[in-house]
Amino acid sequence: MNRTEIINSEKNKLKQKRLSAEIKAQNIAQVLRQNKNYASTETLMRKKMLEIVALPEEKAQTLRKEYYALQKKLAEIAKNMGYTPQDLTPNYACKKCNDTGVYNHKICECLNNAIRQRLQQESGLTDFKGHKFEDSKQNLLDQNETLKKAYTYALNYVKNFPNNKLKNIVFSGNVGTGKTFLSECIANALIKRDYYVVYITSFELNNIVIKSMDIFADNRQELLSPLLDCDLLIIDDLGSEPIFKNASVNNLYTIINQRQLNNFSTIISTNLTPQMIRDQYGDRLFSRIFNKQNTMPIHFDGKDLRINKN
Ligand SMILES: [Zn+2]
Repeated sequence: MNRTEIINSEKNKLKQKRLSAEIKAQNIAQVLRQNKNYASTETLMRKKMLEIVALPEEKAQTLRKEYYALQKKLAEIAKNMGYTPQDLTPNYACKKCNDTGVYNHKICECLNNAIRQRLQQESGLTDFKGHKFEDSKQNLLDQNETLKKAYTYALNYVKNFPNNKLKNIVFSGNVGTGKTFLSECIANALIKRDYYVVYITSFELNNIVIKSMDIFADNRQELLSPLLDCDLLIIDDLGSEPIFKNASVNNLYTIINQRQLNNFSTIISTNLTPQMIRDQYGDRLFSRIFNKQNTMPIHFDGKDLRINKN
């Protein structure tokens, strides 16, 4: 399912919840009205209410008292039949939006959370086991200025997500410098906040891309949509995959380009230097990956981290 389908399906679920709460309340009202005493008391109350609104406030006081007495009587009859007045008002799951999905002219938190959780489920990453920020050892960070700066950047990135000035990060450098560690920390922190994160090795990504290229594959869109739709795509170890010139490079370009156009974030970690990326993937993909407008390149050279402002 793609993002739009998921959103629609969650909207629909909420609508069903709302309707069923309303129908349940209406059904109880119907049952109660079958009791003649209840029905006639309710009719009397309606009449009273009409009289009350027609009168000026100071003249309506006696009627108001009578109205409350009827209300009490009605609750009493309902109680004898095993119901409370609350049973007659729809019991909405969300008290903020009454299951309409809209609160304060904005999409309600309940709907937003449901959509995010569902997207997360679809990504199959709900039990992602990677590292967390809490796992990092302060003494290790203190020994390694490079890692410390990158760590702080990653923390702020998560804090500002999804409104980061620079949407994308490229972590580059040798094996064991902490690139994967930080990518995993970011993934975990954002999954915890119910963002739709897809964490994938470059090798796995390449396999999906190859599968999706099969013109007979009827699940082509299904294969690619998590990569295109997720809030954050993390591609680990770019350069480790076998490259079938043109086809896989073109597809990788399409994914990264489309994500940038849609304002979705992508994090890439790689052992390759920028020059090697240019040589291996060509100028077009290189300029997308290192797009200065929206990408923060963080290079780990073992000791020194050349981290730009921002
Ligand atoms: Zn709500």
